[in-house]
Amino acid sequence: MSQLTHPMESILRMNRMPHIWCPGCGIGTAMTALAEALNKTQIPLDKVAVVSGIGCTGRVAGYVKLDSFHTTHGRAIPFATGLKLANPELKVVVFSGDGDLVAIGGNHFIHAARRNMDIAVFCVNNFTYGMTGGQLAPTTPPPATSTTTPYGAYEQPFNLAHLADSAGASYVARWTVLHIRRLTKSMTEALQKKGFSFVEIICPCPTLYGRRNRIGDGLQEMQFYRDNCIIQHGADTRTIDIKFRDKIVIGKFVDRERPTFLDALNSRLLEALGNRYEPYGKVTENADRN
Ligand code: SF4
Repeated sequence: MSQLTHPMESILRMNRMPHIWCPGCGIGTAMTALAEALNKTQIPLDKVAVVSGIGCTGRVAGYVKLDSFHTTHGRAIPFATGLKLANPELKVVVFSGDGDLVAIGGNHFIHAARRNMDIAVFCVNNFTYGMTGGQLAPTTPPPATSTTTPYGAYEQPFNLAHLADSAGASYVARWTVLHIRRLTKSMTEALQKKGFSFVEIICPCPTLYGRRNRIGDGLQEMQFYRDNCIIQHGADTRTIDIKFRDKIVIGKFVDRERPTFLDALNSRLLEALGNRYEPYGKVTENADRN
């Protein structure tokens, strides 16, 4: 009898299964999209590094059979920046949650986008801090409740796509875990794009955000995405705030060319020093995986 194998076995650490995520959580689907996107790009897996911060999404780093790093809270992007600059041949992927990337790590996020650091950032946005107990996140849309805002959120949340766009990202998209094929395609594009690529992945957290806000289980949240998402490629990111239980605009919003951090560094030093300077980190295009 043939042995059953998981289709993503080449990328996932099966000996770490079962994973820690709650029933109905969407993070596993987002991780599958990452695995599938990596397969589609055919980037040699020994040239891929995945960096996560802390939180439910941060656990992804432990489940991928790649060089992966589970870093401290909010510091996935500076860690990834260091990796990329020390070894420009690497395809460096940041995979973390909204609380991690744009609250404690918010400063790193905007500066990496401004510099157009050549990394792909995949942010699972479930509008809350999951692992630490459902606190208000910088993405929680008013008047959703959280453990720290029991009478409802009242702060203006970040519109992550606009934040990335206005800070200078080369690629910006937003999908939900329901739109798995489009999400995978977008992650594939982001992995192949030179510069700071950002994909926001809207995702249910039924255990904390969903239950507290009477949204229901993961399936009901998926039905909400089915009925309320509008695909609008190229939308002006200033107009696509996510409001509580309202329409969600998804799509690819930004795909532009800008010099990366290393491109800008090399061209400045070449101009200043002429042939006394040897450009740093010239990357030979990814060889085929086979
Ligand atoms: Fe997912 Fe929320 Fe459970 Fe964390 S707490 S695993 S985000 S459902």
